[in-house]
Amino acid sequence: MNSTPNHSIQCNVSSCTHHCGSKDYCSLERITVGTHEKSPTQEECTDCMSFRK
Ligand code: SF4
Repeated sequence: MNSTPNHSIQCNVSSCTHHCGSKDYCSLERITVGTHEKSPTQEECTDCMSFRK
């Protein structure tokens, strides 16, 4: 886990290697968001494509 939070990217996926541990932020400079749906209609349809276990 990286400890330098990017305050522009809030995230609570604590199992991601880019998560800031006790702080709910991402440590990356930028992330890519995508979808696994053909026609996304709600937030559950979107994914952080920068996630790494
Ligand atoms: S890469 Fe995505 S899932 Fe991982 S901490 Fe950053 S925003 Fe969250």
